[in-house]
Amino acid sequence: MNETFDILIIGGGINGAGIVRDASGRNLKACLVEKNTVGSATSSWSTKLIHGGLRYLENYEFRLVRDSLKEREVIKRIASDITTPLPFIIPYQKSLRPKWLIKLGLFLYDNLGGKMTIPKSSTINIKKEIPNILKDQYNTGFQYYDLQIDDKKLVELNIQDAEKRGATIIENRKVIKAKRNQNVWDIILDDNTVLKTKILINAAGPWINDILNNVIKLESKKSIRLVKGSHIITKSLYKQKRAFTLQNEDNRIIFVIPYKDEYSLIGTTETEVCSPENPKIDDSEIDYLINSVNKYFFKQISKDSVLSSYSGIRPLIEDFKEASKVTRDYIFDLNEDGSQAPLLNIYGGKLTTYRKLAENVLFTLNRYISVDNNKSSWTADHKL
Ligand SMILES: Cc1cc2nc3c(=O)[nH]c(=O)nc-3n(C[C@H](O)[C@H](O)[C@H](O)COP(=O)(O)OP(=O)(O)OC[C@H]3O[C@@H](n4cnc5c(N)ncnc54)[C@H](O)[C@@H]3O)c2cc1C
Repeated sequence: MNETFDILIIGGGINGAGIVRDASGRNLKACLVEKNTVGSATSSWSTKLIHGGLRYLENYEFRLVRDSLKEREVIKRIASDITTPLPFIIPYQKSLRPKWLIKLGLFLYDNLGGKMTIPKSSTINIKKEIPNILKDQYNTGFQYYDLQIDDKKLVELNIQDAEKRGATIIENRKVIKAKRNQNVWDIILDDNTVLKTKILINAAGPWINDILNNVIKLESKKSIRLVKGSHIITKSLYKQKRAFTLQNEDNRIIFVIPYKDEYSLIGTTETEVCSPENPKIDDSEIDYLINSVNKYFFKQISKDSVLSSYSGIRPLIEDFKEASKVTRDYIFDLNEDGSQAPLLNIYGGKLTTYRKLAENVLFTLNRYISVDNNKSSWTADHKL
């Protein structure tokens, strides 16, 4: 390929897919390189929710929750074919969070994002409204709504739309080297193809520092913690189309979510790991998830009930807190000194905020390439 791209993105997860779509809609020459197939890593191993993140309120992350709630509305609009509003029930347990705290959290959750089309929260009588699911001691439940999504499909739809708008998508090719020149990067793939780009974007998710240290050969400024999150899949534990948000003694929460009509998706755990490669659930995580379910549900499950499992890696920005308290927000690290082609590293993020992240990438790069600003938020109005 002889052309020089405006931007080249390493990584075809949701963040890379969102950026390449937004860029191509602004008539930039955009390219994305993915070492496997798009959406095959973290972005298809998630809990599959577009959510404000109710529990982040406990960490005082009001801005992240507000922005995520606003994005939940946008994604409901632009990806209506692959999203479903789903009620979540938090069974009240006296020894854990007090009622007033849960109600305050839900009040904020209902209102922080402004006007919403998703139903507001309510208090329910568990025995009357959803009998024979939870053990007798659970009488009161707090119900709120979030969106369930097909996470992999969300990546694929962004990629398809980007391709339609002229983007170059290269799958099954690994970026092995990046050479920085004055105005342009030479990007070398594992079949020795050399691509040229004015701006390089590192959207490699949990591999972000691997790209920096081994491909670009720049010292990474930010340290990240790789935290594995695992899910198990069982036969449906109940018939209703409702999900449960289960509180645990260690302050963490576990979701039990209806999945593909016949199954329940149960997750997630938080276990620190050293490498992003081939994450797999371990026995202690299976036990943790089984125990959480058995504490609440009439129907008891065991290892034999586990039909399948999957794990993904969160690249959390290191701030030396417990994993559940580390922010799920994203951070940009722009590397440029005016004399060499720019590099933008993207740390963290959530499926929920991918579109806004992509838009902010384009605003950030505005000073290096001429971005069509008449289309400031075009992805919020164009259906996927
Ligand atoms: C267990 C778990 C549950 C989650 N649940 C939710 C949820 O319910 N809702 C929510 O909003 N968020 C959730 N998240 C967060 C969300 O999944 C991630 O923030 C998001 O998927 C990250 O996308 P990404 O594009 O950064 O990374 P990835 O999807 O991992 O994409 C990075 C890509 O880079 C590629 N790559 C790496 N190195 C190279 C190379 N050298 N050359 C070419 N390509 C390369 C990889 O193959 C990979 O496909 C969850 C995360 C986890 C781990």
